[in-house]
Amino acid sequence: MYNSVESFMDMVKTKNPGEVEFHQAVFEVVESIWDFLQDNPHYMQAKVLERMVEPERVIMFRVPWRNDRGEIEINKGYRVEFNSAIGPYKGGLRFHPSVNLGILKFLGFEQVLKNSLTTLPMGGGKGGSNFDPKGKSDNEVMSFTQSFMTELQRHIGPNTDVPAGDIGVGGREIGFMFGQYKRLRNEFTGTLTGKGLNWGGSLIRPEATGYGNVYFANEMLKTRGDSFKGKTVAISGSGNVAQYSIEKVLDLGGKPVTLSDSSGYIYDPAGIDRDKLAFVMELKNVKRGRIKEYADKYGCEYHAGKRPWGVKCNVALPSATQNEINGEEADILIKNGCICVSEGANMPSTLEAINVYLKHKILYAPGKASNAGGVAVSGLEMSQNSLRLSWTSEEVDERLHNIMKDIHATCVKYGTEGKFINYVKGANIGGFIKVADSMLDQGVV
Ligand code: NDP
Repeated sequence: MYNSVESFMDMVKTKNPGEVEFHQAVFEVVESIWDFLQDNPHYMQAKVLERMVEPERVIMFRVPWRNDRGEIEINKGYRVEFNSAIGPYKGGLRFHPSVNLGILKFLGFEQVLKNSLTTLPMGGGKGGSNFDPKGKSDNEVMSFTQSFMTELQRHIGPNTDVPAGDIGVGGREIGFMFGQYKRLRNEFTGTLTGKGLNWGGSLIRPEATGYGNVYFANEMLKTRGDSFKGKTVAISGSGNVAQYSIEKVLDLGGKPVTLSDSSGYIYDPAGIDRDKLAFVMELKNVKRGRIKEYADKYGCEYHAGKRPWGVKCNVALPSATQNEINGEEADILIKNGCICVSEGANMPSTLEAINVYLKHKILYAPGKASNAGGVAVSGLEMSQNSLRLSWTSEEVDERLHNIMKDIHATCVKYGTEGKFINYVKGANIGGFIKVADSMLDQGVV
């Protein structure tokens, strides 16, 4: 038995050397639920937390494919099947050169608690490859994804493991993978989510993470009698999550002023309106260009190699990648008037940044609560596939909205500390209990 957070973390670090993002994600959870575990010692006696930080299964494989010049390239493929206590493994695939086992384990661990919070019956998993889709032709992306799925298909299925998209995996990649899965398995099932509308996809799935994050932030603002109306909003990233966050911020009367990609950020103090958003969608989803082109077109500021957290804003929605806000940047955000940080990305704030938010008692939602809308609608896509029917966009949007309200209520239930709501603690305890109790019910698993 471990008698402190530090001794527990020593064990995690010894067993998982060098996996710094995984250590970070586990520490954030363990630190915030430690007191709860002391008050409920049966979890520690049954070693539930120790079991939860060990994935049920890790699959690693070779992905050989041929580029347009006829040369053979070799990438790494992974699927981390983390926890199936409450349902089939569920979580996205990430294609990015930075992908390694530690990053996928951090994402898979977060996913277990996130999926539990959605109220839907989904376990947690994550996968992907160090393949870089940037600069590749459609043909190269297809060659790679077909090879990737040729191995992955033997490990997944509608009742086993249902992958979805993440960084570098959007509608195009899911389409190629679904096509290959179907050829190899000779079955049409809902094994992947984020599918095209004509072949089993759900309405509102592309919008779900961004919309869900803004719904969640709005619930947080409501606890202080506030709303998005008139708020200046800083957003990072310019992919799926960032784009639909902008759309929903505009719906609710806010003014988005920044976007970024891995090369830099744009600052448009006049506001990114619907016409400018349409330009970004065409630029990023069709032309696959760089965000600098926005500044060239609209004559606003572009800052190469920088992140947008120095601009004046009331709300920040980090929606690019992990560890994109450090402690110093969190301080600057707050000095500049930011009262709410709601994470669209997974673990975009470092532990130091989280401590700054908590010290200043601003509204802060960790991604596992605020970005759970994407996987929630993926869960709804799985239900529609099983029932072989499709719900309308109004129906799906309403369910999404209600799920985000339920997640917020869970955070309030477990995270209230006097007048302050500690969403980190609320989300971690709320997500943990359901998984932990299910594991206890199922024996030594
Ligand atoms: P996309 O691939 O659509 O977009 C990612 C965006 O983030 C791009 O603008 C990309 O810029 C930028 N980015 C990626 N890596 C880096 C980096 N290392 N440094 C700076 N910028 C970077 O991905 P999504 O929008 O789907 O995902 C964004 C975040 O949201 C991720 O953390 C993901 O895990 C999380 N998330 C996504 C969900 C979904 O449903 N899609 C669900 C829940 C969470 P560039 O093009 O230059 O690489």
